[in-house]
Amino acid sequence: MIQFSKINKHYGSHHVLKDIDLHIKEGEVVVIIGPSGSGKSTLLRCINRLESITSGELIVHGKKVNDKHTNINLLRQEIGMVFQHFNLYPHKTVLENITLAPIKVRGMSKIEAEERAMYYLEKVGIKEKASVFPSNLSGGQQQRVAIARGLAMKPKIMLFDEPTSALDPEMVGEVLDVMKALTNEGMTMVVVTHEMGFAREVADRVIFMDQGQIVEEGTPEHFFTNPSEDRARLFLSRIL
Ligand code: ADP
Ligand code: MG
Repeated sequence: MIQFSKINKHYGSHHVLKDIDLHIKEGEVVVIIGPSGSGKSTLLRCINRLESITSGELIVHGKKVNDKHTNINLLRQEIGMVFQHFNLYPHKTVLENITLAPIKVRGMSKIEAEERAMYYLEKVGIKEKASVFPSNLSGGQQQRVAIARGLAMKPKIMLFDEPTSALDPEMVGEVLDVMKALTNEGMTMVVVTHEMGFAREVADRVIFMDQGQIVEEGTPEHFFTNPSEDRARLFLSRIL
């Protein structure tokens, strides 16, 4: 579903992704962890070309992401993304936030888009909030709306960039629960997070990045009990 081959990314002279090789299969849940500045967000953002790569080949859902013949807007429809700061439209209701892209981008009728939005709102447990504005929701509720919005496009892949980092602690669980439910439905997911409990419980694979490189990767079992790299051990000792 996602294939990084020798991917490099520079910001000017700053080399932020170094020879990244990473293959993610359909239905796989991959959790990326690592210190701040290690390139996690950049790696994620290359997948839907929010960032361009400097060299290497990146194939997503069978398409070369950086080929000028690739219709990037079509490809982006297959990729939902959830950010740390929900990024909901403040002047639109919850329902409008979710139906906007399906109507405008997928050309869906308003009625169908609303039906589908309600389905996903129910899934994330807040269908009673359909007609309110984001500012009237808690952070956890806003993030669940953002997830419903991503799902409403029926993506093949969901990307999460620290989806719980901006939340008050008591709201982290409700968002992680929604994400866990998604993993049970076979969604291909790439999740950058510091929630080690989540990684341990639901990741098929944990990737540890440091200074633009994948330093270690393996099952959660391997990573949390017996990492082979010193940098991974040091990181774990600091955060666990
Ligand atoms: P992480 O998500 O792991 O904290 P990032 O991918 O955000 O790391 O950043 C990796 C490196 O790239 C950092 O050194 C950061 O300062 C740098 N960086 C990120 N975005 C930009 C940008 N738009 N311009 C220049 N440097 C950037
Ligand atoms: Mg980041």
